[in-house]
Formats: sequence, C-alpha cells, structure tokens
Amino acid sequence: MKKYLLAILLAGTFNSHLLAQTLKTQKINESTYALIGEIGGRTYENQGLNANYGAIVTKDGVILIDSGASKKGAELINKEVRKITGQKIRWVINTGSQDHRWLGNDYFISQGAEVIALSKTVATQKLMAGNQVDSVKAVLKDRFSGTKPAYAQNPPNQNDVALDLGGTKVQIKYLNHAHFEGDVVIYLPEQNIMFSGDHIYVDRLLGVLPQSNASTWLDAFNQIEFINPKVIVPGHGAICDLSKAKRQTGDYLKFLVDGTKKYAEDMAGVEVAVKGLSNAPQFEKLANFNELHKGNINRTYLRLEAQ
Ligand SMILES: [Zn+2]
Repeated sequence: MKKYLLAILLAGTFNSHLLAQTLKTQKINESTYALIGEIGGRTYENQGLNANYGAIVTKDGVILIDSGASKKGAELINKEVRKITGQKIRWVINTGSQDHRWLGNDYFISQGAEVIALSKTVATQKLMAGNQVDSVKAVLKDRFSGTKPAYAQNPPNQNDVALDLGGTKVQIKYLNHAHFEGDVVIYLPEQNIMFSGDHIYVDRLLGVLPQSNASTWLDAFNQIEFINPKVIVPGHGAICDLSKAKRQTGDYLKFLVDGTKKYAEDMAGVEVAVKGLSNAPQFEKLANFNELHKGNINRTYLRLEAQ
C-alpha cells in the first residue's frame, strides 16, 4: 500500500515537473525575452510547444513572436508572458507556417491582438492548415479543442517590412525558401537580436521536410550571416551566437547540399547518396540525429534531382 502511494506521489511530481518545463523563459535584455521549448517532437505533454517563442515588451504592449500549436498552447504562452510583464500582447508576428508557429493565432486575436505575417507566409499557412489540424489533433487530442486556423488580416506582399511597434523597431525579412516556403526572420536592429524561426536549429538536428528546400535554405542562412546578429533566438534549441548557429545549421545544410550534389551529378541514385553520407560524426551529437539524418539526405537529394 505504501509503495503504491509513493508511486502515485512520484507520478504527480513528474507530471507537474513536465508542465513547468514546457517553456522556459529567458531574459535577453530589459525588454526582450525568449520562451524556450523542448527540442524533441511534439507531444501531448509539451502541448505541441516543441519550439521557441519570443516576447518583446514595448511602451504600448507586447510583441509576441509566434503563437503556438493550439488554443491551449497559446494560453500557456500568454500565461508565461504575464509573468514577465503586466502589459498585454498587442501584436503577434508569425515567423512561419509550421503548426507551432501559428495555430494559436485565433486565441490571441480573441484577446485583442493583431496578427502580422507576410502574404508569402500566409499563403503557405492556408495551404497547410487542413493537414496540420489533423496531425496536431492526433497528438494533442482533447488539448487541441477550440483551436481554429486564423490568419494575419492585412499581410503585406513584400519580402522586407520595417515596423515601429510601440517605439521598438522590428524588421520582418523573407530571405529564401527554407524550412517551409514563406518562413521569415524577425530582426531587432537596435538590439542586434534575431528571432530566426525555423531557419536555425541548434542542440538538435534540423529537419529537411518534403516542404523544405535545403539549397535555398543554405542561401537564406548565408544572408543571416551577412546580417550578423549578436544574439540569435533559434527556432529550436538554446539562445546562441552566430558561430554556434553556423556549426549546427549552416555547416549541416552545406554538408547536405554539397554532398548530395556530387552524387546527383554522377546520377548515383538516392540510396547510394544516403549510404555515402550517412556517416557524419561532426553532427551526430545533435539530438534527433538518428531519427532525421538519413531522411534529410534523401529529401535533399530528391529535390536536387527534381530541379
Ligand atoms: Zn519548427
């Protein structure tokens, strides 16, 4: 009986621990915060918040970077921001169209916030919405209830937008087709901080999905290097500097692109390419390497062949 009780108590502790760990808030400076999510896959426990978010406190309200994968996830983000400041979230900027970037939009709109995204980003969100709702619902089950896709009202049809939100300068930049078409980076020029969205993954291996384009993603990364941000809040993983981002994202994309190019030029076939490139000790310490690396080679090769 005693043992049984102890097990229940431990299980309880474990669960609340998991909840508390879903997002970790980190202060970057007086006004700018990162909300760091887990680096594994989306789960019921992490509410699909397996990604990073940002909160920038301005004199007129908070700018939120990305809105979470569900209504409940968005509520959780809102709760975390409440711990930082008494200011309300007034603007939500979407860096992309993967579920954890935008399926919480509707919640923040209902709270009076304005959603901001480029028309390129919104186009991909609309294209992906149906499939994403199905696949996230399958993971989050009851925790997905009340979630509805919602979009930026007046998305600018531009690649580069400079805004002044509550006295804070914010740039939204589309660089090239990266993880999903229409992904952007958010750059704060006065602070030299970048929220890179899914352009940069650290501590874990990035995923080249069927929607991704590794070659143009590498070009986008090179443009980030040119911008030369001092602090990067990556899409996934801990806050980092440019050199870590280069080692774990830029160099890996180059490995994939240059490596598969050689095999494609020889028309070696995808299986030979995967076999030839599967050994990559410089990246194998990154989380999810075993799950993702071979698929990444496969899809990079196939897209190269199709071009
Ligand atoms: Zn992501």
